[in-house]
Amino acid sequence: MRFKAKILLIYTGGTIGMSKDLETGALKAFDFSRLWQQIPELEQLDCEIESVSFEKPIDSSNMNPEIWGTIAKMIASNYGQFDGFVVLHGTDTMSYTASALSFMLENLAKPVILTGSQLPIGDLRTDAKENLITAIQIASHHDKGQAVFQEVGLYFEYKLYRGNRTTKVNAEHFKAFNSPNYPCLVESGVHLKWNSHLLLPHTDIQNLKVHYQLDAQVLILKLFPGICGTVLQAILGIPTLKGIVLETYGTGNAPTSHSFVESLQQAIHKGLYVINVTQCSSGSVDMGHYETSRELKELGVISGKDITTEAAITKLMYLLGKNTPKNDFKLAFETSLRGEMN
Ligand code: ASP
Repeated sequence: MRFKAKILLIYTGGTIGMSKDLETGALKAFDFSRLWQQIPELEQLDCEIESVSFEKPIDSSNMNPEIWGTIAKMIASNYGQFDGFVVLHGTDTMSYTASALSFMLENLAKPVILTGSQLPIGDLRTDAKENLITAIQIASHHDKGQAVFQEVGLYFEYKLYRGNRTTKVNAEHFKAFNSPNYPCLVESGVHLKWNSHLLLPHTDIQNLKVHYQLDAQVLILKLFPGICGTVLQAILGIPTLKGIVLETYGTGNAPTSHSFVESLQQAIHKGLYVINVTQCSSGSVDMGHYETSRELKELGVISGKDITTEAAITKLMYLLGKNTPKNDFKLAFETSLRGEMN
């Protein structure tokens, strides 16, 4: 008998399912059942589709670790019954969610693909239909009864990316996402072109392991010329703070002033984890390449290599949530866990 994949659509909210409030003109989430009326083409797909929606769909600006837990739970509790999952999500924080889910879902052997759109599904020029239909097609692609794509992906504007490699780069264009340091995994044209050699290797371990504990006592700090020592000290001195993602210049460079280095040194000494990522839109941190990063390396700053800020902050939450021992933390962060860094 021919294999027919069963796909679960999980609607969390976002523009894809929004409509204009007639009074205020603002976009707000609408009833998910209308999605099916808007895309009757879903019936034509060669797979079975079921859907489930957040009771109250959200604008993804309201996303948080607790809601990531809800999404992970929806996937985990339906894992045995479905062959793949497509998560409809607002674009604003989609890369954060894709990154978080990649760490939360260990030994993933089925596709989890996030998608959304820049224009609501009911809009005449909407990008929602192509995004949704192709995301489902990719999720249902099987070979010898096995899902071909076995990781957390993000599909947008003709490209499937590894989710934890993406970042939102445009608030208006249909090409809203980029994967600056890793090529796309599937390209949609007349045919779907799979870059199979770039996929994560399939896992032999059958049991999905879900990590629900994320520790959000973290912060992203972007350097800028003139960053003030007292501000830095105040931030690093927040008593509950456990880790920061420091967005540095170029290949991981930072001021060499005494006040800056001393503040960092004290914080690290007190047990704060500091992750060095570049604020450039692509490329990698290489501590020690310049004099301005050599000292960071000596202080025990952790290299984020070519990770995105979105993946760095969620990986930090994940490793803290797992209570990773202090002595293992640096190595754990600098090791690729889900293909998020080279
Ligand atoms: N504000 C919306 C959201 O992220 C934008 C979108 O969906 O594109 O939920």
